[in-house]
Amino acid sequence: MKRRPRLGQHFLTDASVIQQIVTTTAPGAGEHFVEIGPGRGALTGPLLSRGAIVHAVEIDPALAQGLRESFPHERLSVHLADALEFDYSALEDIGVPDARLRLIGNLPYYLSTALLFRLLESAAGFRDMTVMLQREVAERLCAPPGSRRYGRLSVTAAARCRAEPCFSVAPGAFEPPPKVHSMVVRLTPDSRYRIRRADAFERVVRQAFSQRRKTIANALRGLADRDQITAAGIDPAIRAEQIDVQAYLRLSEHLDQPA
Ligand code: SAM
Repeated sequence: MKRRPRLGQHFLTDASVIQQIVTTTAPGAGEHFVEIGPGRGALTGPLLSRGAIVHAVEIDPALAQGLRESFPHERLSVHLADALEFDYSALEDIGVPDARLRLIGNLPYYLSTALLFRLLESAAGFRDMTVMLQREVAERLCAPPGSRRYGRLSVTAAARCRAEPCFSVAPGAFEPPPKVHSMVVRLTPDSRYRIRRADAFERVVRQAFSQRRKTIANALRGLADRDQITAAGIDPAIRAEQIDVQAYLRLSEHLDQPA
C-alpha cells in the first residue's frame, strides 16, 4: 500500500511500545473508543482483541479500506473523514450508560496542535484521551506556569483536563522513523474550573501569548485595561507565562461583553 508522507504516516511497528500504550490505556470490553488515524491498525487490533468497540477516523481512503479488510469486525466502524472536521458529538450517545467515549490516537504530527485544540473544545464529551505526540508538543501540552514551554496550548488544556506525560518513544519504534522523539500523553477531562466565557478566555489567552515577551498589560492592549487585569488579581507588570489558568479564567470574566 502506498504511503503518503504528507499525511504524517509513520506506522508503529515496535510491539513493546504498542503493548505499553495498550497497558497505559487499559481498554475494557464494551468500551467505546474513537481512534484517530488508525493507519494499518497497530492500535486498532489490540483494542478489538480486548473487546473494545472502535470508531476509527482515517483520512486516507486506501488505509480505511485496508483496515476494513484486515479487521472485518462488527465492533469496528471506519469513518473515512478528516479528524479535524469530524463531528465527535455524533458518537457521544452510543456509549454504555455512565461511561463516556474514550479516545486514542497516534496523531499525525503535521496536524497535532490543531487537532489538540479541536479535541480540547470537545473534551467534556470524552472520559479520557491517550495520544502520541511529537515530544515538543507533548511538553507544551503538559507545561506548568513559569516554565519555558508554557503557552496557549498548556493553558487551554489546563482549563479542561489533567494532562499527564506517560512515556517517551524513540523514532525507531516507527516505520519509517520520524525525525523527532515522541511522547504518549494522557488527558483526563475534568470540571475543576468553570469556563463561563469560553470566547473571551480563548481571545485573552491567544493575545497574551502572541506577545509573550511583553508585560501582560502591554500584550493585552486593546482587549483588557490595567484595571481589569488588576481586578482579576493579576499584576499588570508580569508576563503571560507567569499567569496560571485560574487567573486567565478570572480575567476572561472581567472583559467587556462584546456589543
Ligand atoms: N495509528 C497508526 C499507527 O500507530 O501505526 C498510524 C499512525 S500515523 C502517525 C497517523 C495516521 O493518521 C495515518 O494513518 C494518516 O493517514 C492519518 N491521518 C493523517 N491526517 C489525518 C486527518 N486529518 N484525519 C484523520 N486521519 C489522518
